[in-house]
Amino acid sequence: MQLGFYFDQNRCTGCFACSIACKDWHDIPAGPARWMRLLYQEEGKFPDVFVSHMATPCYHCSEPVCAFVCPNEAVTKRDEDGIVVIDRDKCREEKTCGIITSTNGNGLYGEQEAPCHIACPAHIRIPAYIALIAKGKFKEALDVVLRNMPLPSVCGRICLNPCETECRRKDLDEPVAIEALKRFVTDNVPQELPQALPQTQPDRVGIVGSGPAGLAAAYDLIRMGYGVTVFESLPVAGGMLAVGIPEHRLPREMLKRDIDYIEALGVEIRTGTPVDLGKGLDDLLGQGYGAVMLALGAHKGQKLDIPGADLDDVLVGTSFMKDVNAGKALKVGPKVLVVGGGNVAIDCARSAIRLGATEVHVTCLECAEDMPAESSEQEQAEQEGIQLHPSLNVVRILSDGGRVSGAECHGIEGLVFDENGRPTFQTVKGSEQTFAADTVIFAIGQTPELTGLAGDGGIETSPMGTIAADSETLMTGRRGIFSAGDAVNGPTSAVDAIASGQRAAFYINRYLQGDVLRVLPEELVNVGDIKVDIPPDKEKQAREVMPLLPVDQRVANFSEVALGLNEEAAIREAERCLNCAGHLCKDACPYGSPQFADEEKARMQKCDLCIERWAEGKKPICMDACPPHALDAGTLEELRKKYGDVTEAYAFTYSPVVQPSVVTRPKIRSVGK
Ligand SMILES: Cc1cc2nc3c(=O)[nH]c(=O)nc-3n(C[C@H](O)[C@H](O)[C@H](O)COP(=O)(O)OP(=O)(O)OC[C@H]3O[C@@H](n4cnc5c(N)ncnc54)[C@H](O)[C@@H]3O)c2cc1C
Ligand code: SF4
Repeated sequence: MQLGFYFDQNRCTGCFACSIACKDWHDIPAGPARWMRLLYQEEGKFPDVFVSHMATPCYHCSEPVCAFVCPNEAVTKRDEDGIVVIDRDKCREEKTCGIITSTNGNGLYGEQEAPCHIACPAHIRIPAYIALIAKGKFKEALDVVLRNMPLPSVCGRICLNPCETECRRKDLDEPVAIEALKRFVTDNVPQELPQALPQTQPDRVGIVGSGPAGLAAAYDLIRMGYGVTVFESLPVAGGMLAVGIPEHRLPREMLKRDIDYIEALGVEIRTGTPVDLGKGLDDLLGQGYGAVMLALGAHKGQKLDIPGADLDDVLVGTSFMKDVNAGKALKVGPKVLVVGGGNVAIDCARSAIRLGATEVHVTCLECAEDMPAESSEQEQAEQEGIQLHPSLNVVRILSDGGRVSGAECHGIEGLVFDENGRPTFQTVKGSEQTFAADTVIFAIGQTPELTGLAGDGGIETSPMGTIAADSETLMTGRRGIFSAGDAVNGPTSAVDAIASGQRAAFYINRYLQGDVLRVLPEELVNVGDIKVDIPPDKEKQAREVMPLLPVDQRVANFSEVALGLNEEAAIREAERCLNCAGHLCKDACPYGSPQFADEEKARMQKCDLCIERWAEGKKPICMDACPPHALDAGTLEELRKKYGDVTEAYAFTYSPVVQPSVVTRPKIRSVGK
């Protein structure tokens, strides 16, 4: 048997009598905490704003994730009635739950976030999914990841991991392998495609570009109830994930897995459909798209303006990688020189080796410590025989009979980039050297391809050649047209593009609701200010190492090099997490039901449907208090029988794991107003 909660949005007037009665009955101290809460929701375009409320009590899930993550086993589900109960004596008792000692003045337990969580641009609830992995609950862990991350299989492989840089385990030994753990769940949980979500908002949104920024915005907008169409000029979806990053780092079936999930939710992706950036935008708005987002990426590669740069065998990195990923029969000479120090340069070099080059050199302006490519990428490249040459400036491409024969370089020092990314440095006298090369590949940065955009009703470009958009709302100079990802920020990273797409989706929603666009800026916590007191009895434990394909098996093909952690290693690695912020139950719960009231040693509290009143034949106090009788409780069968046309509390139903025991009668409204 499972007890459930019924909420009729049509009857609720938003008087909050339920919340007040709840606070009073349970003697909850003054402050915002109350176990029964109503969320005020506004939908629809101004002035036809449509107001409803949504109850957010504990849903007594059939598989409660809060119980799985609690280190003290303080949360259990009762067999007899399916109620999830808390043992408040056990909560925060024997095992550590939260070791942060101070933040930017926010001292409330339960309000703090772990350093990794803050550092992740997509704001994934990292400690909660790691705790679920440690308990062997892999599917539930993936579900937590999916709440904030549209591309988990991709980001489990190629993310630049700002979370790991901030992980406080490094103060004891080494950071937790957060990325490898995310990859572990995507590799090991069989995919269950979600059902398509109903369109509950009158508007459709058009997104131009199917890279991580476009897909992230689509993922959030469809979950907010909008119709979403993504227009992609290339024959494949995924942006640089599909045509830039090589398969030995990101197998295409993993990208497909993530995109299949987004499409299953109802996002329509039209590949092979370029949008004209002039008239095409007018057409989209004219076709009834309420807002349009430009997530065009930065695909136009650059060469240095030096003698010889226009020779035939001098290539640009992005075009080279597009050809590699399209499976074109490319020929590179036996000797290849790549100019650039980022991931794109290393990808070009490692791809050249796989295409048959026998001698590959990479030169860059940065010194060895500052080379922007990930250190693991540099290491793997060196294992494959690629030679890295930092602190070098290429001054001329040499030729013989009209063909590339090499490049002349000078050693440099004192490298500084100005605010527009332009380098200044001094040349070291007598440091000239020459590399023999048959092919030279420039991988020194990209800009967006914006042909057709110039002069188009208010959309301007920045001095960097990117689309100019408001830094907070990401709306361009033209109303209703937003932009995100590399098209606005210049070449960054997949997770930055995702975060940018998520931000744009948030503001597109506000725009379509006719809301004031700007919101009060959130008070940002500086991750460096968080103090974490590692318990003195915590022992050192080495970080699990990702096994790699042996070098001789990798250099002749594009097979994936990193092989992933096995189950034992993943659990061991997850157990290394210190659970810095604590309140894992709150982070894991998809409904934000657990609360920590402000008291000396705050312990978890949440709605248990006033179970003590049931013994006396009474229903929860909120039901008695509700004047229009909008609330009820009983077994799920009883509620379905009594109220007939009810639905599970959607907005949450995208989750394949969580099965809410709340049924709701949604507010009646007309879509398409
Ligand atoms: C070789 C390489 C390696 C990289 N390695 C990493 C890495 O290891 N880790 C990492 O985090 N990042 C990496 N990046 C960077 C990362 O891929 C990008 O930062 C990210 O993909 C940007 O996302 P986006 O959505 O803004 O743009 P993109 O991914 O570039 O997607 C933009 C999409 O818009 C489409 N488009 C453009 N104009 C139109 C139009 N007019 N009509 C219709 N469609 C249009 C494009 O075809 C493209 O598919 C790498 C990039 C490259 C090139
Ligand atoms: S130890 Fe765990 S909670 Fe703390 S920063 Fe690292 S991954 Fe996050």
